[in-house]
Amino acid sequence: MTDQIATFDRVESQVRSYSRSFPKLFNKAQGATIFDDEGTAYTDFLAGCSSLNYGHNDPDLKAALIDYISEDGIAHGLDMFTDAKEQFLEAFERLILKPRGMDYRVQFTGPTGANAVEAAIKLARKVTGRTNVISFTNGFHGVTLGALAATGNSGHRGGAGIPLHGVTRAPFDGYYGKDINTAELLDQQLSDPSGGIDAPAAIIVEPVQGEGGLNVASQGWLKKIQAIAKKHGALFIIDDIQAGCGRTGTFFSFEKFGLSPDIVTMAKSLSGMGLPFAITLLKPQHDIWKPAEHNGTFRGNNHAFVTARAALDKFWADGAFETELAEKAEFLHRRLRSIANEYGLRVKGRGLMVGIETDSGETASAICKLCFEDRLIIETSGAHDEIVKILAPLTIDMDQFARGLDILENAFEAELGGQRAAAE
Ligand SMILES: *Cc1c(COP(=O)(O)O)cnc(C)c1O
Repeated sequence: MTDQIATFDRVESQVRSYSRSFPKLFNKAQGATIFDDEGTAYTDFLAGCSSLNYGHNDPDLKAALIDYISEDGIAHGLDMFTDAKEQFLEAFERLILKPRGMDYRVQFTGPTGANAVEAAIKLARKVTGRTNVISFTNGFHGVTLGALAATGNSGHRGGAGIPLHGVTRAPFDGYYGKDINTAELLDQQLSDPSGGIDAPAAIIVEPVQGEGGLNVASQGWLKKIQAIAKKHGALFIIDDIQAGCGRTGTFFSFEKFGLSPDIVTMAKSLSGMGLPFAITLLKPQHDIWKPAEHNGTFRGNNHAFVTARAALDKFWADGAFETELAEKAEFLHRRLRSIANEYGLRVKGRGLMVGIETDSGETASAICKLCFEDRLIIETSGAHDEIVKILAPLTIDMDQFARGLDILENAFEAELGGQRAAAE
């Protein structure tokens, strides 16, 4: 193994990041378990940063893909009509859009979340003829220049190498504490002819901020933001790339909130198997793109269409999976509250997108490191990486879930046990 790690040190760019926290060579994965080359099994509470909501190599998704490849199905189709693409669109319309009363066109963008966000922002600018986009503190929307401008994190922004223009930052829900309604502040400033914010093309928001620290926007706040967008002639964009595909307990993170965003971005778990795939959903009246105005060679990842369709059929054809997610979320919150309460800490997040806020990035990373020694893969989130974030596959079985949480509990005890004793 040491030899192989040396290859990475010698050849791969310094830009790599997760491999620094988990310096093992991984070669196999199934469900919520990932194996290193010595055969050691790790429970995966990172799940590709929520790209593997249905676990690694789900047997039904895998079988659908293997069948498709065996039959010489189209792998790459640019944006031509293929049967795999038709079947994805038909299933998405029938199982996702129609039952939720949603009327959207599906735009296939380049296969990353950032590209879906680029498309969303470009289209909002084109529709409104304006340039300014409002995004929020701690928001994360990707690292290509347009999406990066909307991203708050200074570490990522620093990589741009040029000024990031065209975005005004507004405070997210609760940014100044619970007594200050930041949506009202934004409305006041936009309504003031001397407020200094250029008329916005769009307001873009994550209902739960994934990278930015599991900050949860309330239903009331999101409704107000949507109303502000409308009042001021901007499109309302929801970035559901991380919070979508069941992570908060429903397919869309916002679907129980009575919202009707103009544009929705999706990626991460959309393919269901970790294959690159992103879409941007557009209200039909906004679909004013000229052919190829926003394109990308890899918009036709047909393997992803096949697994995405299989995932929709398997998990979203009825309400059984949602019921399972509600039970798992309840269990997870109960376990995390009990750990957090021991040390006077706070649980943040919603559904199965939750974590424990510690006092610092050092504490959170020490806890994650202890977990890894105990064969649990888990990462941090937040402006200071101060949150230990749980992103277990949604399909994880309850025994493994409980054992993973035991490891987490032990790591908190090992790192903070002294602190608790001191407080007593
Ligand atoms: C991960 C993420 C993105 C960017 O997706 P990439 O595939 O990494 O480009 C955008 N928005 C949110 C909310 C994300 O979590």
